[in-house]
Amino acid sequence: MLWKGRRQSDNVEDQRGQGGGFNLPRGGPGRLRIPIGGRSGGGMSLSTIIILVVLYFGLKAIGIDPLQILAGGGLGPGGGGQITDSSGQGTGAPASDEMKQFVSTVLAETEDTWTGIFQAEGLTYEDPKLVLFSGQIRSACGFASSAAGPFYCPGDRKVYLDTTFFQQLDQQFGASGDFAQAYVIAHEVGHHVQNLTGILPKFNQMRQQMDEAEANHMSVQVELQADCFAGVWAHFTGQKGILEQGDMDEALNAAQQIGDDTMQKKMQGYVVPESFNHGTSQQRQTWLARGYKSGKLSDCDTFNTPI
Ligand SMILES: [Zn+2]
Repeated sequence: MLWKGRRQSDNVEDQRGQGGGFNLPRGGPGRLRIPIGGRSGGGMSLSTIIILVVLYFGLKAIGIDPLQILAGGGLGPGGGGQITDSSGQGTGAPASDEMKQFVSTVLAETEDTWTGIFQAEGLTYEDPKLVLFSGQIRSACGFASSAAGPFYCPGDRKVYLDTTFFQQLDQQFGASGDFAQAYVIAHEVGHHVQNLTGILPKFNQMRQQMDEAEANHMSVQVELQADCFAGVWAHFTGQKGILEQGDMDEALNAAQQIGDDTMQKKMQGYVVPESFNHGTSQQRQTWLARGYKSGKLSDCDTFNTPI
């Protein structure tokens, strides 16, 4: 990616080196944490919300208040489920300044792209913050260690990223290249888009009333949509002429390497399909490619399309 010299976002909070001296228990591969919060029954089904949101972006003429959608469902600190992506032990090596510049630049690119997409629909995109950390971090979703991998917390609207994850992505998962890293950032920003459009709050509410298998299935739909949104971002980034030959292959390879089946095979030697909560390698590649191909949010309806 031809990222050098481009605008860097001011929304990066560098909290590296501020971690504490103890480790939290690590979760399993790609574990999705169940949020602690009150149940609130009733309301529209997630499917209905998704249809409405997708329609909203495609057609403006539907009877739903966009401000209500953008309010994000009134999640306060601690009220939202942390969306965790991948896992594993970080190496503890300090991230370089160049890494911070790269992350800030990719974040800026996502801000510009999503601002444009929202504006085209008469909506206002609110930038997320991105927290760089090392060791462990406290978010509105609770404490997390770098072992948990990158995550998005809807409660404080921040993406959390330990940049040692990028080394892990390369060395442990076999996903190298700057655009593999950009895809990871864009995927987390995809969760932010889901938060702004009301999808994530609805999911976090609904999954508390589901059994584990149902919650896992819906989690896969949420995650594949975030992959598709990352693809939409890549589509517009490509139109700016800043993608290099092989960049999308790096992102697609990363999607392959962090698929639930591939990860489980690598980490435990066998797969347990009922436990999948991010999608298989094939699914993740498919949805990333789908968003990239068209650049349309309406092609990212993982809730009403066979996945
Ligand atoms: Zn995710």
